[in-house]
Amino acid sequence: MSRRVINFYAGPAALPLAALERARDELLDFEGTGMSVMEISHRAKEYDAVHHEAIALVRELLAVPENFKVLLLQGGGNLQFAMLPMNLLFDGRKADYIVTGTWAKRALKEAVTWAGADHARSIATTEGEKFTRLPRPDEIRVNPDAAYVHFTSNNTVEGTQFHEWPDTGGVPLACDMSSDMMWRPFDVKPFGIIYAGAQKNLGPSGLVLVLIRDDFLARCSERLPAILQYKVHADKDSLYNTPPCFSIYILRNVLATFKARGGLAAIERENRAKADLLYGCLDRHADFYRPLVTVREHRSVMNVTFRLPTEDLDARLVAEAKKNGMVGVKGYRTMGGIRVSIYNANGLDAVRTLVDFLEEFLRTNG
Ligand SMILES: *Cc1c(COP(=O)(O)O)cnc(C)c1O
Repeated sequence: MSRRVINFYAGPAALPLAALERARDELLDFEGTGMSVMEISHRAKEYDAVHHEAIALVRELLAVPENFKVLLLQGGGNLQFAMLPMNLLFDGRKADYIVTGTWAKRALKEAVTWAGADHARSIATTEGEKFTRLPRPDEIRVNPDAAYVHFTSNNTVEGTQFHEWPDTGGVPLACDMSSDMMWRPFDVKPFGIIYAGAQKNLGPSGLVLVLIRDDFLARCSERLPAILQYKVHADKDSLYNTPPCFSIYILRNVLATFKARGGLAAIERENRAKADLLYGCLDRHADFYRPLVTVREHRSVMNVTFRLPTEDLDARLVAEAKKNGMVGVKGYRTMGGIRVSIYNANGLDAVRTLVDFLEEFLRTNG
């Protein structure tokens, strides 16, 4: 067996070991077909079962109501940045964007390119504070004429997370949940659309999970190339074109591990315990491990960001972590410092090992 490291990368990120082992064991001969799942027609019954099991597991884990479609598309989060306004913003319709980080900015930029700045409006931003907190409720003024309010539930780069949804006064929410999808159970109903690139918490990159409500879907454009229409993908059960079969197969394996762990309520308990343990350590030594996020209630349970007193110490910590079998803790280039990503696949043990390391690093370098 090759050695596995403790992987704190932000994305692509660690996947549950059992999901990978299952893929390894089935790679050459999937379900007695004598082929890998990559070599089978996407119309064959063996693939069809995987495809629909993945969709059924999403529905089961999140208790997705009947009036939502679950789509499995390509192009990651970035294609959704474009597809959402292309489908919803036409005939003069407008949308509001809450801009809380690098990815939220990108989402707005694509919407502005498509619809113009008077139709894709930034209604709140914390960019002036380098996105180190979220807007307060009184800083968010939703326009009642908006077709949707777009926000990013977890800001992967900066380490902030919405623990309560913005109040939109009934305007449907449109959410990029790429980096915290399924970290806990939540009520899907207030959302017109949710999308999540898979490579943070769910599976391989390139695949994106979309949940779209029927009334929202009904308002989508039919004057786009078919491949870009939510309606086409919904009508064909995400089999309009050849889907990314292997990625969907891995998604299925990952979701099966979530179910085996007791579902999202059990996963939430572990995620909260992980975050408490790590933030607890940082808070004990706040003069050395300095948080980037300025409002405690806005801290992410998925991406934990901080910096040390000097950049030299940041670099030393990254190098020492690697020597101790922990990779991926370097902060994003725009933020610097340290970022530790503790998605569903990283267990409490991994965080314990990290915290022991941080305590030891402080003793020798503090
Ligand atoms: C990683 C990420 C993206 C970009 O995903 P791609 O698959 O590279 O398009 C978008 N939004 C958020 C919140 C992310 O974390």
